[in-house]
Amino acid sequence: MNDKNRQEENLIIIGGGPGGLSASIYAARNGVAPLVLNGPEPGGQITTTSELENYPGFPEPIGGFELTQQMTEQAENFGVRLKYESAEEVDFSGDKFTVKTEGGEYIADSIIIATGAEPRTLGLEKEDSMRGNGVSYCATCDAAFFRNKEVAIVGGGDTALWEATFLAKFAAKVYIIHRRDKFRGAKILGDRVKDKENIEILWDTEVENIKGEKKFEGIRIFNNKTDEERDLDVKGLFIAIGHKPRTECLKGQIELDDHGYILTDKKQHTNISGVFACGDVQDPDYRQVVIAAGSGAKAAIEASEYIEEKENSFPAKEVKMKNHAAGDEAKDSSDTAKKEEGGLSLSLSLD
Ligand SMILES: Cc1cc2nc3c(=O)[nH]c(=O)nc-3n(C[C@H](O)[C@H](O)[C@H](O)COP(=O)(O)OP(=O)(O)OC[C@H]3O[C@@H](n4cnc5c(N)ncnc54)[C@H](O)[C@@H]3O)c2cc1C
Repeated sequence: MNDKNRQEENLIIIGGGPGGLSASIYAARNGVAPLVLNGPEPGGQITTTSELENYPGFPEPIGGFELTQQMTEQAENFGVRLKYESAEEVDFSGDKFTVKTEGGEYIADSIIIATGAEPRTLGLEKEDSMRGNGVSYCATCDAAFFRNKEVAIVGGGDTALWEATFLAKFAAKVYIIHRRDKFRGAKILGDRVKDKENIEILWDTEVENIKGEKKFEGIRIFNNKTDEERDLDVKGLFIAIGHKPRTECLKGQIELDDHGYILTDKKQHTNISGVFACGDVQDPDYRQVVIAAGSGAKAAIEASEYIEEKENSFPAKEVKMKNHAAGDEAKDSSDTAKKEEGGLSLSLSLD
């Protein structure tokens, strides 16, 4: 690759979901012009969900696609450049960091990784087409849609047990479908589900298929010891068999935990100075939009400070705000001044 095809950047954000987009907005507002590599799923995982009820600021449910569209528009208003390219390989060994995509090579002062995680699937026929229409991978997100209904959850680890207890607060009945005869999760969580009156555990059991053609109409299950089959007329199937953080492009370049999540400290720093991570790719526990957005903001604040303090940073690119955003900025600062007069400042200060 000759130097002509090597684009120099202050900050590259790998991933265009809520974590990456939030990071891009904060970075641009701090005067760093980030380049976002959107990857295979522009907008991220929420583009696959019909409605979100738990993102603050929206009293009525908002469509997942609509929410990312608004985040993207907000980022573009702050001059964020988005490229529909995937990071294929990175090199974090030097003082500057290299990212290779199918379209070229970038060299950057700082990197934020926001590549998310994908739920592991059972691989059932119709599992994908019924996703969001009866099949869910997130009880925190979707339990409220199954109030007073019967649901099933597949899995036997900590997440499945925690999610089963959470589901039991809403659903009339929860079946835990587990392919073994004991849980892998913590004993305390296992004891808790065993104590719940509206949870029934189906040991040595697996899902054979999803019933219904266009509409979810329950599941067929089988006992893997006796081969006995039967229908379970549940209204929802939750699959909680783990997530796979998207870290393929980082091969050997960064410290991961035993499950492949990027290890970060409280300020989103990784083990490599100048490389930060946010969102689901570093979060085995919460995996929510609001948390991905929050950690994206933290990563961008940290990256902006890092770039400012770095002695040989590339010359800063101009942050080209869209006209109306610039107008809003002017309005914003006069609003802020008014708020400060009244003793309340809502503006972010990094000094
Ligand atoms: C069906 C479903 C419903 C959900 N419902 C809710 C809900 O109601 N409320 C809620 O708070 N959360 C919900 N979630 C969880 C929420 O979507 C995630 O927590 C959130 O999207 C995580 O944001 P993220 O930016 O970390 O990662 P993601 O949203 O996964 O985004 C990752 C981004 O990285 C990009 N990427 C990946 N690899 C590369 C690469 N090599 N190079 C460049 N880019 C790359 C992808 O294209 C994508 O743009 C739901 C999730 C699912 C799957």
